[in-house]
Amino acid sequence: MDLDWQNLGFNIMKTDYNVRCVFKDGKWGKLEASTDDHIPIHIGATCLHYGQQSFEGLKAYRGADDRIRLFRHNENAKRLRRSAKGILLAEVPEELFMEAVEKVVLLNKRFIPPYGTGASLYIRPLLIGTGPEVGVRPAREYTFLIFVMPVGPYFKSGFKPVDMVICRDHDRAAPHGTGHLKVGGNYAASMVSIAEAHKNGFATTVYLDAKEKKYIDECGPANFFGIKENTYVTPRSDSILPSITNMSLQALAGEMGMKVDIRPVPVTELTTFEEAGACGTAAVITSIRKIVDQEMNIVYTFGDGFKPGPVTTRLYETLVGIQNGDLEDSFGWTKILD
Ligand SMILES: *Cc1c(COP(=O)(O)O)cnc(C)c1O
Repeated sequence: MDLDWQNLGFNIMKTDYNVRCVFKDGKWGKLEASTDDHIPIHIGATCLHYGQQSFEGLKAYRGADDRIRLFRHNENAKRLRRSAKGILLAEVPEELFMEAVEKVVLLNKRFIPPYGTGASLYIRPLLIGTGPEVGVRPAREYTFLIFVMPVGPYFKSGFKPVDMVICRDHDRAAPHGTGHLKVGGNYAASMVSIAEAHKNGFATTVYLDAKEKKYIDECGPANFFGIKENTYVTPRSDSILPSITNMSLQALAGEMGMKVDIRPVPVTELTTFEEAGACGTAAVITSIRKIVDQEMNIVYTFGDGFKPGPVTTRLYETLVGIQNGDLEDSFGWTKILD
């Protein structure tokens, strides 16, 4: 495959195959491969009208040994089931999910970026209500599909610290809402505020808890963490999406001898962090240089403002090293595909 691997963005690209499976008459059908990147669906499909959809995001990496590695895809399988439960989609059994991920990656092997490019194969599972309903009720038919595309690092600036802005006039999720599920509705709710943040020169928005506007929830589509006094601090909140990257960083921080503190994090505590970052599959870690609170007229800054701090860097390098096979995977997180 002759692609400009070094300069891939985070963009849709047609690859050879996607895989699909339909839930009908109370059961999942056969998992099939398709070369078509369209799906014919009924105009009354519940995913189109009532947001009955959930998705996942994960990556496949090629190692120095040229082998293909998946990272904790069993966790994505579990999370998709939780999302399905939360908005009454047909649940995809974990074995079917993992089989589908492995199948679609192997079918698109030639699109997996070579080792050393920083690029990887992004895997996007999608679960949608495709049965028609006009009343508000769950569909009787669902489609589970996965497509893939090679991607570069999420943030074009690479592993350079970015600026974020605290959002006080929008919420992405309500208390007791769907913030803890990976569903498109949360993304729809975040579009205006993230677009506004971009327009004002910020990488993304920092959401606060919707009720009191006192605690940090998330950074756009990524979890927040702060580092201070040898402690990894990350918010506990019912309205944030449990990030697999975050879970992994917590384990690594523990292994490095740091304390891990998962609890509500007041905005005012931002003054005390030595380092701060956002984490998720797409960018792994985005180091934060400053967080601006325009309404309160406060700017929180972290580190020297030019490069990520030492703990952030070490966490990042360790996680990426495990993902691409450079470092030993003592946690058993990776699965080698070939
Ligand atoms: C997907 C997602 C994340 C990151 O989760 P990972 O499993 O680490 O990729 C964080 N926040 C939101 C809102 C998400 O949708």
